[in-house]
Amino acid sequence: MIEELKVDYAVLGAGLAGSILSIQLIDKNLDFITLDTKLPKASLKASGLYNPLVFKRLTKSWAVDKVLNYAQNFYSSAVENSNEFFYSYPLKKTVLNAEEINNWEIKSAEAAFNGYLGTLETSKIKGIKNTSWGNVKNTGYVNLKKFINQVHENLLQQNRLVVCDEKPDIKIQDSSVIISHKNIKIEAQNVLFCDGPHVVKNPYFNYLPFKLTKGETLVFKSNLLCEDFIIKKHFFIIPIGNHLFKFGATNEWENLHWKNTVKGKQLLLEKLEDLIHVPYEIIDYSAGIRPTTRDRKPFIGTHPKHKNLHIFNGLGSKGVTLAPYYSNQLVEYLTAGAFLDKEVNIDRYIKYYDHE
Ligand SMILES: Cc1cc2nc3c(=O)[nH]c(=O)nc-3n(C[C@H](O)[C@H](O)[C@H](O)COP(=O)(O)OP(=O)(O)OC[C@H]3O[C@@H](n4cnc5c(N)ncnc54)[C@H](O)[C@@H]3O)c2cc1C
Repeated sequence: MIEELKVDYAVLGAGLAGSILSIQLIDKNLDFITLDTKLPKASLKASGLYNPLVFKRLTKSWAVDKVLNYAQNFYSSAVENSNEFFYSYPLKKTVLNAEEINNWEIKSAEAAFNGYLGTLETSKIKGIKNTSWGNVKNTGYVNLKKFINQVHENLLQQNRLVVCDEKPDIKIQDSSVIISHKNIKIEAQNVLFCDGPHVVKNPYFNYLPFKLTKGETLVFKSNLLCEDFIIKKHFFIIPIGNHLFKFGATNEWENLHWKNTVKGKQLLLEKLEDLIHVPYEIIDYSAGIRPTTRDRKPFIGTHPKHKNLHIFNGLGSKGVTLAPYYSNQLVEYLTAGAFLDKEVNIDRYIKYYDHE
């Protein structure tokens, strides 16, 4: 027997983007269902770090003043058991030479960096070779596996999540969209695509200039390494509990697949050896694809032709920080006619849309 359902919104994809968007829809009492597939999730490969800076040039991350505080409040209160997935940890960044020290001193005197750049210090950290540090404030990590599991559990309890073996079929009608999978048929007024890096096979939105990047990470165990800080040199060491640490992630623009490579593993090990001087055991290697975009800003908004199709994607390597604020902005845009920031609105790429 076919189970038929009518909803105002169908969210397609329940990684970080779709999970957070679903929470916002619940909060606003909106009528929706979320469908996910068993395709791999970038979110489950991510380190889950939030950090307000781009260290290469010691600048602030794009939009951080607007989104970071919102994100911290969101993770600490939006779903129950936040102490099991949301961790605020200080971050120590190696400062390697006089130029870096000078740059840090200049920037930390600027009001714009208040709340982000802390003091410089020289200190030994248990297990770490380097001794010169810049302290970064407002940093930490979200255990995305636990967070997403918690959201999925809540959605399942409310009969709002369907996990499909494969992508559901989509048929666009004049004023609604029919989504079918096996014996389920959903008529939705609006479809919100949150398909992460799988968007490149999405015929409605793959005209947008995504520029996916692959990242590899490893998890290691060390009983002798300090668990009090996130450490950043080439990559980040993030303490994830029980003497386990996540390390990464690499950046690769070619050969985009979800498996670790010999080259990636070697690079990770080389950089780890460069940073720590205590014994460790490798527990796991992992690889994933980030939904990064050419201009490094999210892709949010409504399809140029099909006005009932919308996208929430392109969270890149900053999904943890960006997703809460911009999911709220998207819901306000859909329900209250609020404006989307022009930097994230897909209208900026209308010139790329020339088919159909
Ligand atoms: C190695 C690595 C490290 C990272 N580290 C960090 C970090 O430290 N901090 C940070 O902020 N970000 C990090 N990121 C980036 C972060 O993972 C992403 O920004 C974010 O997770 C993207 O979430 P998403 O929901 O858009 O995509 P995904 O998590 O990939 O979710 C997409 C979902 O859509 C589903 N789907 C696809 N097509 C359909 C369809 N047609 N119908 C229904 N469902 C569909 C898929 O099954 C999947 O569940 C990292 C990424 C990687 C790969």
